[in-house]
Amino acid sequence: MECTIEKNTRACACTYEPCGRKGKCCACVEYHRRSGELPGCFFPPAAERTYDRSVAAFVAAVGKRRDGR
Ligand code: SF4
Repeated sequence: MECTIEKNTRACACTYEPCGRKGKCCACVEYHRRSGELPGCFFPPAAERTYDRSVAAFVAAVGKRRDGR
């Protein structure tokens, strides 16, 4: 299987620039899953920029979007 790190990095919605996992989606998912979190690209932009990757933050952000708040 071909590694698509360059394509992934260009499309990455995570704004945390110092992270060495950008574009390495397998490492990103593994890291956040181990911490009980979700990758930044799952979050709406405003919530992503808080760098809170917790499931609670995701549910709060997505719930807000659905409610239109
Ligand atoms: S979501 Fe986390 S692991 Fe993935 S690129 Fe952003 S900071 Fe790095």
